[in-house]
Amino acid sequence: MRSVFGFLNWWPGDTEDEIFIGAILTQQTTWLNVEKAISNLKGSRALSIRALSRMETSDIEKLVRPSGYYRQKAGRLSSLSSKIISDYGSLSGLLGLDTKILRKTLLDMRGIGPETADSIVLYAAGKPTFVIDAYTRRIMHRVFGIPADISYDSLKAVFESALPQKLELYKDFHAQFVELGKRYCKTKPACGECPAAKLCRYANPKFAPARLKA
Ligand code: SF4
Repeated sequence: MRSVFGFLNWWPGDTEDEIFIGAILTQQTTWLNVEKAISNLKGSRALSIRALSRMETSDIEKLVRPSGYYRQKAGRLSSLSSKIISDYGSLSGLLGLDTKILRKTLLDMRGIGPETADSIVLYAAGKPTFVIDAYTRRIMHRVFGIPADISYDSLKAVFESALPQKLELYKDFHAQFVELGKRYCKTKPACGECPAAKLCRYANPKFAPARLKA
C-alpha cells in the first residue's frame, strides 16, 4: 500500500486540541462534514479544549451542526473539555499520562470508545497504540479471512503482536488502511484496480473455495 499511496502518517489537524476535537466529531460521520464543523470552530476561536470548556453547550451546537448528531457531540465536547480542564489543568496534562493509563482514562470518559481513544492516544498524544476502524476490519476480513465480528481488542492485538511498537509505523499503518478502504475496498469493492488484490482472498480466484462473503 505504501508503494502506491506513499508515506501517509496523518491525522488532519495542526494541534493536539484540533486532533482531539476532530476525533470526537468524526464519530458516525464522514471527514468532509467534520471539516465544516472544524472550520466553524476555528472561525469562532473555539477550536481548543479550554475555549470549549468556557462555552455554553447551545453555542457549541451551532458550530458543530455540520458534523451530524450535533446535540450529542456538542454535549460530549462540553462535558469532556470541562472534565479535562478541571482534572488535568489542560489537554496536555491529560495527554502527558503514561500510554496505558491515558487509554484507560479516555475509555472511562463518557462518549469515548476504543477507536476514538486509540486515535487520540496515537495522533494527539503521539504514543504508539494501534487504531482499528471499520475499514481495517473490512479489509482484514476480505484479505485474510479474519472474522468480521472479531472483537476490537482481539484485532488490535493481531497488529500489536506482529508489528514493532513504533509510533510512525502505527500512524502510517492506520492511514494506509483508511486510504485503501476509501479508494478501493468500499462496500462494493473495486478489486480490479486494488493494490492488495494479489494477496486478497476475496479477489483472488486461486482462493476460490475459501472465498469470503463481504
Ligand atoms: S482486492 Fe478487493 S476485497 Fe481485496 S482489499 Fe482490494 S478492494 Fe478489498
